[in-house]
Amino acid sequence: MLKQLINECRIRLQLEARDPLLIKAGLSNSRDIDSAFVRTTRDGEEQIYLPGTSLKGVLRSQCERIARTLNDAAACDPLARSGPLRSCGDVFEEREHPRSGTQRPSGAAQAPATVYRESCPICKIFGSGALGSRVSISDGYMVAPSQPVLSRRDGIGIDRFTGGAAPRVSYEMEVATEVTFAAEIVLRNFELAQLGLLGLALRDLLEGELRIGSGRSRGLGRLRGQIVSCDVSTIGRQDDAVPALVGVGNGLRGGGAYGLPADDLLSVDGATYEPVGIRTYLRVPSEAFPWDALYRRAEETLTAYAPAPSMLRARQPGTNAATAQSGGPPNQMRAAREHAAALVRGGRPPQQPQAPDVRRRAVTVPDPDVRTAAPHEDTPGEQARGEHVADVPTEQTGTGVGVEAPTTEAADITSIADLPTSSPDEGNTP
Ligand SMILES: [Zn+2]
Repeated sequence: MLKQLINECRIRLQLEARDPLLIKAGLSNSRDIDSAFVRTTRDGEEQIYLPGTSLKGVLRSQCERIARTLNDAAACDPLARSGPLRSCGDVFEEREHPRSGTQRPSGAAQAPATVYRESCPICKIFGSGALGSRVSISDGYMVAPSQPVLSRRDGIGIDRFTGGAAPRVSYEMEVATEVTFAAEIVLRNFELAQLGLLGLALRDLLEGELRIGSGRSRGLGRLRGQIVSCDVSTIGRQDDAVPALVGVGNGLRGGGAYGLPADDLLSVDGATYEPVGIRTYLRVPSEAFPWDALYRRAEETLTAYAPAPSMLRARQPGTNAATAQSGGPPNQMRAAREHAAALVRGGRPPQQPQAPDVRRRAVTVPDPDVRTAAPHEDTPGEQARGEHVADVPTEQTGTGVGVEAPTTEAADITSIADLPTSSPDEGNTP
């Protein structure tokens, strides 16, 4: 059904480093330094850049945080393989390849419409192992007034096990300041609430509240910036009396199978329509862009969200055979080992994660046991994107770049993402 493009929002951003910045190059960094900034060749010269995958990771994490603040069932944990936050991708993977040896359920359990409809609001935007991403983010390239200063700093390696300095006492990392990047976000076939949620996360990024890259726990990585332009278009002619922002579900035959809202439309005072080729652009003065109404729509939609009964069943304790047999997820076992080791040494036990300081609102779910969520301070997905690498210099397990929540590659399985112009990671790979 949605192999076609219905609507598109293209947001151009300018981002400057507010703190020193380090987006680490991979293991193949040829510089004589432990942690070098990622580089690419552009206009015949080598320069640093801001990988789109890093931006996408930070925005996804913030969207998850916002969603769980409103409704703790509204975002899965992309790395969880059991429990109430078990990732959508893992649930669909097991449906496709049952681990317990039972027969795969017959019928249309894995129809693209079902996968989209039953995915959590975050996977619907950013994708999962079973669902394509709706959003693509370009790499950020340097623009004026960049006068990049690349400096070396000593870092102290922290041994995660003892909490003390790592055996190699210090290591060098290369950080950038005085640098401005231009990047572009493209959201296709979006519901208005999805644009609203992305807008909320983006606002936090632009106001300097999010950190990106390595060394976030020691003050690196805040950006700030602004939206340079935001162009919304729909395919086909629009002729509403008052020009409107149109979500993907609006008036779409068959949209119900995808769980799309039928009245996904927002009239915008002061806007005009401009037909260009097969598209109709909504022209809005930037100060009149209806972000506030979109934020409200996101908040209402997330607050009212209830997972499908089949997803709740798949997240009940003991429903994932693989983890049930191994005695719990590996990080629980690691935490237990660390705790025991600390007691043996007589020191204080490692810090436990704080309970999240978020407002919790009741949502309607049939079984209260499903919602005994563990404290969840930071998304493992975000940690996997490089933070721990910076803290443990001798353990070069990640690259800090291109390490993304398991969202993209399996992308085009579902037709809703199968857009003719879709190129989810255009230009991301140097
Ligand atoms: Zn999900």
